[in-house]
Amino acid sequence: MTIMPVVISADIGGTNLRIGLIDQKGNVLKKIKLPSHNGNLLEALIDAITELITPETVGISLAIAGVVDRKKGQVIHSPNLQEAEGINFIEALGNRFSLPVIIENDANAAALGEHWAGAARGYESAVMLTLGTGIGGAVIYKGRLLEVAAELGHITVEADGIRCLCGNNGCLESYASARAMVTRVVDALEKGEESLLKNCCDGNIYKITSEDIYHYALEGDTLARETLKNAGRYLGVGIASLVNIFSPEAVVIGGGLIGAWNILVEEAKKEAQKRAFNSLMENLKILPAQLGDDAGMVGAASLVFRQ
Ligand SMILES: [Zn+2]
Repeated sequence: MTIMPVVISADIGGTNLRIGLIDQKGNVLKKIKLPSHNGNLLEALIDAITELITPETVGISLAIAGVVDRKKGQVIHSPNLQEAEGINFIEALGNRFSLPVIIENDANAAALGEHWAGAARGYESAVMLTLGTGIGGAVIYKGRLLEVAAELGHITVEADGIRCLCGNNGCLESYASARAMVTRVVDALEKGEESLLKNCCDGNIYKITSEDIYHYALEGDTLARETLKNAGRYLGVGIASLVNIFSPEAVVIGGGLIGAWNILVEEAKKEAQKRAFNSLMENLKILPAQLGDDAGMVGAASLVFRQ
């Protein structure tokens, strides 16, 4: 009987810890989801690995929200996951389970996942953007992860624009992230703009989420549609720059906005078309991510198989 090797892979985010068993083709065979901030992170991780481990397990991989030192297997800096800082994962888990351990930043891991088994499969080069509270990004170039800062959410799209948490003005994520859309809607409603969104969330406009905006946009609400279009336009401005720099074959966009894909991405495409070099835009595909929340887990596992 042939043995099918598997990897235990965890995506450790600011909110959830997802851990699963991944096969050689990037299939998720089994998974567990836990809150990240519930007791001791390392112990929770060890318990989950113990539950999932099989004799076919060839390694452990971790995708972590933060700046990581791959060699040392440590998290250098993680604003949303401070309990991960200082843990030497290679030592702690490697010794415990006698398996190789690999760690990677979560945005990079998600791009690797989409490239291995998702939307970017088959493309030599791809740029991945994840629109969440902020905007995460990573670049695949000539089939491999480009190991650069890739703070794609913080490229400037408006010289004197909105102040960003990073200290710059006019960052892409201040216009096209889920948080940016919510802020814009709440500002407009506070100023008395007419919109069905006023009735959202039992009348508490401070509870509006990006999903609510997508929902109302699909219902035809003008403010919701304009907010998505505006975000799409800035996304297009950002994409144009990324296309001119990296000449990717695909731009993959992730983060729970698939429902409003048409409104957002049509606008982004139009804008990018106006700005980027024609020759680079000609064959570019802008694609929705396929792996959803599993992308980081799957991508981190690919690194173990690649070894
Ligand atoms: Zn910024």
